[in-house]
Amino acid sequence: MFYSCWINGEEKACRSSYPLVDPSTGEEFARIAAAAPSTVSSAVEAAQESFGKWQRTPASERSSILHAFAERIRDEKEHLALLTCREVGKPLRAARDEVMSAAALVDFFAEESLRLRGEIPLQGYPREQVLIVREPIGVVGSITPFNYPLSTLVSKVAPALAVGCTVVAKPDEHTPLGTLRMARIAAEAGLPPGVFNVVTGPGPEAGRYLVEHPVPRLISFTGSTQVGKEVHGMCSHGVKKVILELGGQCPAIVCADADLEGIMPQLVHQSFKNSGQYCYRTSRIFVASEIYGEFMLHFTRHVAGLRIGSPLEDDTDLGPLNNPDILSRVERQVDTAVKEGAGVEFRGSSPLLKGRGYYYPPTILSGLQPDMSILREEVFGPVVGISRFHSVQDVIGEANGTPFGLAAYVFTRDLGSALEMARQIEAGSVWINRIHQAYMEAPFGGMKESGLGREKSRFGLEEFTELKTIYLCY
Ligand code: NAP
Repeated sequence: MFYSCWINGEEKACRSSYPLVDPSTGEEFARIAAAAPSTVSSAVEAAQESFGKWQRTPASERSSILHAFAERIRDEKEHLALLTCREVGKPLRAARDEVMSAAALVDFFAEESLRLRGEIPLQGYPREQVLIVREPIGVVGSITPFNYPLSTLVSKVAPALAVGCTVVAKPDEHTPLGTLRMARIAAEAGLPPGVFNVVTGPGPEAGRYLVEHPVPRLISFTGSTQVGKEVHGMCSHGVKKVILELGGQCPAIVCADADLEGIMPQLVHQSFKNSGQYCYRTSRIFVASEIYGEFMLHFTRHVAGLRIGSPLEDDTDLGPLNNPDILSRVERQVDTAVKEGAGVEFRGSSPLLKGRGYYYPPTILSGLQPDMSILREEVFGPVVGISRFHSVQDVIGEANGTPFGLAAYVFTRDLGSALEMARQIEAGSVWINRIHQAYMEAPFGGMKESGLGREKSRFGLEEFTELKTIYLCY
């Protein structure tokens, strides 16, 4: 099977292509176009050409098309889930959830865009009025990672389209098929040609051409901090707006009075979800020294119950990692941590670990010290480090002691102390006594090297608009 780019409402062939590999077998299953600079330019031109008409389409009409798009995504739930399962290596159950949350997000932005407002200040100057209006920012470049190819895509494309922007999307080179399918579905739902285009190919080529192209006014990027910094630098040349959703090293703090039985299933799920390829996952757990032994016992027992399996099987908890680079990075990080003195408390097993797919066992490390390299880098795999703490002040210092600031989790029955900790933790979101459940109405994004700007919510929608002030005298 061969897949092309999607430009101006039709397939666009390219001279070069590369193989797509199934992470659970290591075998090629399709080929995909690698966009040259001229292909990226034609996608951007199509987006620019359609921008004038799309921005003048009544908001209610844009909203109806987006609702139809969401409905079509739901109709294609099984097909999109299978594509995601195949190209990401994500267990089918989780892939279905991702499809449904992508559809819900499209519906949300279709509604929220109808509530977007400007302002007319009450100034009282005679025969003069100031109008503060919002306008769509223009052509948007959307660059997304492999781990949540559908939900990260709609977090960018849906608000952009809802406010009247047009889009060129560049999915991750390993996971382009869901994005291509979404663009076709959007067209079938009534989106005019040129409004949502897709270019495929490696990031340093197709992605870079898109960012460096002079036309896009906003680059909305989700990916690693390292590439995010490069994209930020490239955007500064054209003074382009940039939204960056980057890496994490999210801490969970479990105080002595936490409800251990109650939190254990969620904490394990949050640490190993998507085989650890998840920016909001808990990669560091700090446990009060009084309950450390008991916590370790419970946590290890739950992790031992996780099933490593084929992504297509219904009872699989952990599928493969997405590609060999991710696998070798996790292997290196764990080996280095052990050399630096970390202990391996648990390592899962499965015959699949000796096969051709990119499987890595769920692993629990202990004895992590703040200067170990595993705490300085993001760990994008099923590995969690558990440490004990003696005082709240010390643990806040350790939780904040990385370059990242995406999310954090606090477990205690003392809500006053929890709130105090939440205020001191440097993170875009803090959950208290509840593990990650992100609502569409709430902003989503990181502090420090975890990002810039916010997605979801009305704040995420407003990012795709610019304010203009009109001084009207009459
Ligand atoms: P990545 O390597 O940074 O890639 C992300 C995207 O950037 C891919 O489409 C990639 O293309 C592209 N890219 C690479 N080099 C580029 C360049 N020079 N110019 C323009 N684009 C370029 O990240 P990943 O490994 O796919 O994804 C995992 C990362 O995403 C993790 O760090 C994770 O924390 C982060 N993430 C963050 C959030 C959040 O909300 N904060 C959500 C999900 C994921 P190719 O892969 O095709 O080269």
